[in-house]
Amino acid sequence: MTVKLTPRLKENLNKMGISELTDILSYYPYRYEVIEYIPYKDWKIDDKIIIEATIIDKPKINYYRRNQSVLYLNVVNEDDYFRVTIFNRHWLMNLEINKKITIIGTYEGNNKILASNINTQPLAEQIGIKPYYSLNKGIRENTFLRLVEQVIEKYENKIVDFIPETIRKENNYLSKKEAIKQIHRPDTQKSLFNAINTLKYEEFLKFNLIMAKRKSDAFIEDLNFIKEFDMDKIIEFISSLPFKLTDDQSKALDEILSDLKQGKQMTRLLQGDVGCGKTIVAFIAMYATVLAGKQAAIMAPTEILAKQHFNNMQKYFADYNVEIGILYSSQNLQERKETLEKIKNKEISLIVGTHSLFQEGVEFNKLGLVVTDEQHRFGVKQRQSFLLKGDYVDMLLMSATPIPRTLATTLYGDLDVTTISQTPYSNKKIHTVLIKQNSFISKIKEIEDLLDQKNQMYVVCPAIEKGSENVRNVNDIFVNLKKHYQGRYSVGLLHGQLDNEQKQIVEKQFLNGAIDILVCTTVIEVGIDVKNANIMVIYDANRFGLSQLHQLRGRIGRGKKEGYCFLLTSSKEDEVIEKLNVIVNNNDGFIISHYDLKLRGPGDILGYRQSGLPAFVLGNIIKDSEILNKSYNDAKKIIKDLINYPLIDEYLKQSENEGVLIS
Ligand code: ADP
Ligand code: MG
Repeated sequence: MTVKLTPRLKENLNKMGISELTDILSYYPYRYEVIEYIPYKDWKIDDKIIIEATIIDKPKINYYRRNQSVLYLNVVNEDDYFRVTIFNRHWLMNLEINKKITIIGTYEGNNKILASNINTQPLAEQIGIKPYYSLNKGIRENTFLRLVEQVIEKYENKIVDFIPETIRKENNYLSKKEAIKQIHRPDTQKSLFNAINTLKYEEFLKFNLIMAKRKSDAFIEDLNFIKEFDMDKIIEFISSLPFKLTDDQSKALDEILSDLKQGKQMTRLLQGDVGCGKTIVAFIAMYATVLAGKQAAIMAPTEILAKQHFNNMQKYFADYNVEIGILYSSQNLQERKETLEKIKNKEISLIVGTHSLFQEGVEFNKLGLVVTDEQHRFGVKQRQSFLLKGDYVDMLLMSATPIPRTLATTLYGDLDVTTISQTPYSNKKIHTVLIKQNSFISKIKEIEDLLDQKNQMYVVCPAIEKGSENVRNVNDIFVNLKKHYQGRYSVGLLHGQLDNEQKQIVEKQFLNGAIDILVCTTVIEVGIDVKNANIMVIYDANRFGLSQLHQLRGRIGRGKKEGYCFLLTSSKEDEVIEKLNVIVNNNDGFIISHYDLKLRGPGDILGYRQSGLPAFVLGNIIKDSEILNKSYNDAKKIIKDLINYPLIDEYLKQSENEGVLIS
């Protein structure tokens, strides 16, 4: 059978991304409508109906605006007359009197039908589930449906199965041929569901196979990755810490240290809720690297956080013979020059910094480990450029937005995942209250009592200065609070536009308790650790994402005392209130990030919007996480045993040559 295309149709198909006829097979419908035959006597208003009828007089048409039309038809079916209305189908004017047509639409009562489709095929062929395709303007629905029909008929026997037969049988997946047929022309709702599931699985499997293959390829041994260090010295360091590691921290550390000893590159994501104590785990891994005679660097997304890491390191390593250096962009030039020199000749072995760590001019000397803190704040490219700084660099990525393992692998590529799920003070609570008013006046007494007990407070605003949007800004709030609390509490101001010297002074004052109330923007969102800060007020809380609010709130209750967080909003919208209540009712970052992923999608919350998340046609990495998980596990098994899957092997080789992630 040959399928003939007019040049115009061809051009329109091209515009839809269809260049070969076989592309139509994977041009799936975007929705379906179930069309059931109901006899006229049973029709109720708003019923979806289908009826065969004969045209009894010439159609009438009215044009309004440009290219917009409404067409009226009078038809008869046995003894019943109907008046049919349909929009934007001017070509139906060609229908002649006495022509038999099939009408699909909605019953409006009084023998009136609002049609969505009018055609000349017999009714019997059209009952069932009707697919809808997103079509280019120049293509008529019926033309495309016929084309799909023809293409399936022509190619169905050439469709080969990609999913291995054993997996297919175990899970009742359809054959690819059947799945393609059912997704375009479903027999039943069940077979449609199976077809979609099958094709989603295949899509995810292809992706996970490529990932698993890359990982197994990366497993090439290279002795240069091996770090030998004295475990006794690590244990000694751990026992010198002012606290005991939690079980989860120890477990995470074990995994990381054993990676470091191996002759292959480590790419590990260490994830865990705010305050679970990831930093110290990273520091210990860095120390091990230094003991093995290599340099270790930690990269933080903000200067404040970098400096905090630097200060902590200096404390922890005070009695150890390790030199620590810091690099950040606003650093004084002389200091930077000296630090660079020391890094180059290895006088410094532990290096802390912002992204300026991997700028030109930074020359490491046997860099062995790079830790990226709050890794979702960095782009993929930024992280990779770090790897170019040394040949045998292990990577440890840290994130406080815990997500399911498979999702992490899908988003970040072929990495291993370690999750810390307990926090050191897990019995300690943060009380979160939603105030439906953009002011904390109703809680002022409670807050002042807490301040009087020597607790410090963050007051977070979405804006720095008054702008066109009606949100609170730090400048105004700072002035007001300062005036109001003069002589009683000291108030400080912190935001990204202050100059560095000012920032440093304020940070220091807040850290040593000279400032009671810090009015700030989200500059404090990541990492900041001030033990006595136990109160937080967030103005216009609806302006922030859920994960962001959770991160912000993670700044308080970090010592032994309980934390108090007040979310302020003047919004009355149900959706907003519901969203903020997720924060009020949950302290678990895992649950919160799950809500957030559902609400905003992974690109947004993980900072991956611009960086090429794999695009799946059918599969949704959040909603279809079960299928995603399954394909992930299956892919790992298949890769081990590739020789038994010649088709998959061939596919992987092809993808490699073409450099594609998904096809
Ligand atoms: P995050 O995982 O959010 O980066 P941090 O590493 O900043 O968390 O740790 C939060 C706080 O908990 C820090 O003040 C840190 O010193 C402290 N901490 C870390 N581990 C422990 C522990 N095992 N016991 C008590 N406190 C700890
Ligand atoms: Mg941290």
